[in-house]
Amino acid sequence: MRRKILILGSTGSIGTSALKVARDIPERMEVVGLAAHRSVEALVAQVAETGVKQVSVTDPDMARQARALLPADVTVFDGAQGLVDLVQSSNADMVIVAIVGTAGLAPALAAIEKKMDLAVASKEILVMAGEAVTTAARRMGVHILPVDSEHNAIFQCLEGQNGNEVRRLLVTASGGPFRQLPADQLPHVTVAQALKHPTWTMGRKITIDSATLFNKGLEMIEARWLFDVPMSKIEVVVHPQSIVHSMVEFMDNSVIAQLSHSDMCFPIQYAVTWPERVPNSLPPLDFAKLAALHFEAPRTADFPALDLARHAGTVGGSLPAVLNAANEVAVEAFLNGRTTFPAIWITVERVMSRHLTIAHPTLAELIDADAWARADARQ
Ligand code: NDP
Repeated sequence: MRRKILILGSTGSIGTSALKVARDIPERMEVVGLAAHRSVEALVAQVAETGVKQVSVTDPDMARQARALLPADVTVFDGAQGLVDLVQSSNADMVIVAIVGTAGLAPALAAIEKKMDLAVASKEILVMAGEAVTTAARRMGVHILPVDSEHNAIFQCLEGQNGNEVRRLLVTASGGPFRQLPADQLPHVTVAQALKHPTWTMGRKITIDSATLFNKGLEMIEARWLFDVPMSKIEVVVHPQSIVHSMVEFMDNSVIAQLSHSDMCFPIQYAVTWPERVPNSLPPLDFAKLAALHFEAPRTADFPALDLARHAGTVGGSLPAVLNAANEVAVEAFLNGRTTFPAIWITVERVMSRHLTIAHPTLAELIDADAWARADARQ
């Protein structure tokens, strides 16, 4: 089956990998719409390549530029509502949500209401509103295919298990650039050092999240919603080579793992072609060259992000949204040179401690909690 795909965040790291997959398996993937925030030049080139007739550019000034540069028969939606308008007017049967942060939440919910399947890279929307998104998807009979490599791996490990009891989801982590850095050096790390990820090339925000281990914390909460398991069954294992993308341990103590090279084209392709597998031009693993795969426990005392995320995921309600929003603000401050590296988790911890958790928040209450946490983190 050739799927009609809308790519939200097409100019980012995941978005460009999704377009690579579309080039690799054109008989399976037809791109019918694209969305960017400000990168008009890249978007115009993507429109020329794919021939799509509908795009969204959230920044209104950039949307005006896009209209001037694109052929007259291409519709350009704009503003935050532009993403929702793009989804609502599209004939896509799957939406890839690859927008950094929570801006992908409204279009994701709009896609569910249109019975479009979702391929979700934007973990922040599941952390903020996992219950709302998964409940809406179940109600509409929509599939949520994980694009995050760890969750895509777990999804593959769980296939065909027919309800066999899971003992643990083992989420692998590269450990980031500071895996072996002594704790007393962490206050002195620079933005450039934090942006040098050892195994993955990704956008700036997720790269900093990988260095603090907040990325893994967000992924624990993401896994809790995607696979409907309690936080107590989710564990993190550090695996610096990023070849084993995650594992599932069953009640008989057998473990199933998924392996491939660290290239996001693998999980993106599987999300698009699921439940089928098709040949591609990606490289196979050569086990003789890999030689050794290494595993170790995470340094939770030196990198508090994992415990903060476990606490937020266990308490639930509005607390994960607060953790996520405070982290976004703190990461931005670090990237702009306004705080130190440890100030990221110190900020998140303080904002979380000041929040009065709402146990079963409505979407409006989640949006309020997110706004409150951003304002509090800025202070
Ligand atoms: P990038 O920063 O590379 O790209 C982000 C994309 O989102 C760009 O297309 C950007 O447009 C767009 N965007 C940013 N802000 C807005 C906004 N307010 N409204 C609409 N569009 C916006 O990020 P990544 O591709 O690295 O990450 C995207 C998501 O995928 C994140 O949630 C991340 O956690 C997740 N993810 C990423 C992985 C990776 O390997 N990169 C792996 C697993 C998950 P523009 O270019 O115009 O600014």
